[in-house]
Amino acid sequence: MKKNTTVILTLFFILTAESIFAEDLVFEKIPLSNGVDFSYLVKDSEWRFSEGEEKIIFVCWENHQDKFSDEMNLVKQSIENTWQKESALVFKGWQKCRTVNEGIRILIEDSGPRVQAFGKRIDREPNGMILNFTFNNWRPDHDVHSYRNKYIKAIAVHEFGHALGFAHEQNRPDTPCECSQRHGQDQPDETILTPYDPDSVMNYCNKKYANWGELSELDIKGLHKVYGAPN
Ligand SMILES: [Zn+2]
Repeated sequence: MKKNTTVILTLFFILTAESIFAEDLVFEKIPLSNGVDFSYLVKDSEWRFSEGEEKIIFVCWENHQDKFSDEMNLVKQSIENTWQKESALVFKGWQKCRTVNEGIRILIEDSGPRVQAFGKRIDREPNGMILNFTFNNWRPDHDVHSYRNKYIKAIAVHEFGHALGFAHEQNRPDTPCECSQRHGQDQPDETILTPYDPDSVMNYCNKKYANWGELSELDIKGLHKVYGAPN
């Protein structure tokens, strides 16, 4: 009996240590002050469309660079195969930003990936989303260079989740204590759409890094509630 308890405690400690490590290095620079969190949606952050209107969100690159064409294409494909494929949303553009461009404006920079605001508040915002393709100054993990494309995809899907208004799953009030004790924060303005989801791309406590950019069943359910199922 005592031995079992020791094993469980040891396991818990290992898992805890890993998660804290992940959190410290991963999405730490995302500002939470201007809204709140998910399927868990930041209140009033959803992009709005008129009835019958195609649900288009434009995307452009602030510093479009030919040397990053593979990486930019990987981000585009990753978003098309997740948030777009599983909803009524269509992401269009993906060219170099002009001053007048609306939608999500992405800056490629070697710093912590983040969004300047949640959901539609990012619309037209210069450098509204920061994505990292080189991972020299900032890195999500020590093995990032061996699995660079996996990280680029996972981070892009996570950050686009924020750009759609979704916040960190682990900040929900109903998060199990083994997760929330480490990551929980009071979030006064959230709308809870689905049960707590340990597999969410938006959950720091996920044992897979941002679920490696694969939407979970509940991510998709929440997505449908806000933006509708695919046409
Ligand atoms: Zn995040």
